[in-house]
Amino acid sequence: MYKAYKFRLYPNEEQKVLIHKTFGCYRFIYNYFLDKCKNNKYYKVFDMCHELKELTILYPWLKEVDSCSLRCAIFNLEDAYKNFFQKRNNYPAFKSKYKRQTYRTNCMKSEYKGKRYSSIELDLKNKKIKLPKLGLIDIRGYRNLQVMNGDIINATVIRETTGKYYVSILINEIEVIGQKEKPKSIVGIDLGVKDLVVTSSGEKYHNPKEIKKYEKRIKRLQRKLSRQVKESNNYQKTKIKISRLYSKLKNSRKHNIINIVNKLIKEYDIIISEKLKIKEMSQSHSLAKNILDASFFKICNMLEYKSKEKGKYYYQIDTYFPSSKMCSHCGEITEKTNNLGVREWVCDRCLSTNDRDINASINIMFEGLKYCFDN
Ligand SMILES: [Zn+2]
Repeated sequence: MYKAYKFRLYPNEEQKVLIHKTFGCYRFIYNYFLDKCKNNKYYKVFDMCHELKELTILYPWLKEVDSCSLRCAIFNLEDAYKNFFQKRNNYPAFKSKYKRQTYRTNCMKSEYKGKRYSSIELDLKNKKIKLPKLGLIDIRGYRNLQVMNGDIINATVIRETTGKYYVSILINEIEVIGQKEKPKSIVGIDLGVKDLVVTSSGEKYHNPKEIKKYEKRIKRLQRKLSRQVKESNNYQKTKIKISRLYSKLKNSRKHNIINIVNKLIKEYDIIISEKLKIKEMSQSHSLAKNILDASFFKICNMLEYKSKEKGKYYYQIDTYFPSSKMCSHCGEITEKTNNLGVREWVCDRCLSTNDRDINASINIMFEGLKYCFDN
């Protein structure tokens, strides 16, 4: 199971210079081959890697940076093409030096005279990371993490538009499977727009209040930005402010999700949700919807591995189950809930008053019971 850990990175001045050089070379290689692929026919990674050798002779400054990162630029381009061919993304675009800067490097391992060597090493005790050509760099984050439970696959060095540096490390994590006990409690959850999570026990988890505050501020600054002279000093300042707010927004969303999932896992032994419609999700062009979908996806993903870790059960029911159309008291199907604005409705058959989301989560719970007996 692959898992990414993102740490704040504190390079010294010398390391910063080299990091920026690497960004430049990474971008150069990516754009060089993208340009060639665009003009000719797309050609194979093997041929590009071969040509890379010639390029380093032609442009000796490419030798100053981590050579593995340059190969990664080619793999990165290949991924971008794959995503395009499989209709998951648009045609690859040239990398710009005005945007968020990144480069990736794979963890190379070797053994020499019984001594093991790894190009990326993480020292969580002393809060340092060893990266190719850069040496040791201070890191911060994951205060309680003592050991990584798996091998490092690669590292991505990032410079956000806020000017902060990060490193994201991909780990091939060994799955921790908790001892399963006889389950005693069950809950169904409904993921929604108004409340992020509603449970069959009647709890409603909202998005935190800060989110609205940040969104409002971002909107205001974006209006300001549109009036400012492009690439002027003030324009840049506003841009930095916006990206700082974005990262705060992302963080508070993330923490909110972690809190909700932890609470659910702690309180219930069996958790049931609907399966997400991945295909429909990726086709939406609205930003707000995309962010929401990302949150849903994160919740389900976390429920999946956290329940394994803690010895709990997590099931997803079929997407086409009419959870919001059915009365959880008598099974009557209604058309009243087709209108998304209807938050509460009265069942025509049994006359019970149903809260839209709680009713749906109860249905999800009962539908999920089927899966429990199967396993
Ligand atoms: Zn009813």
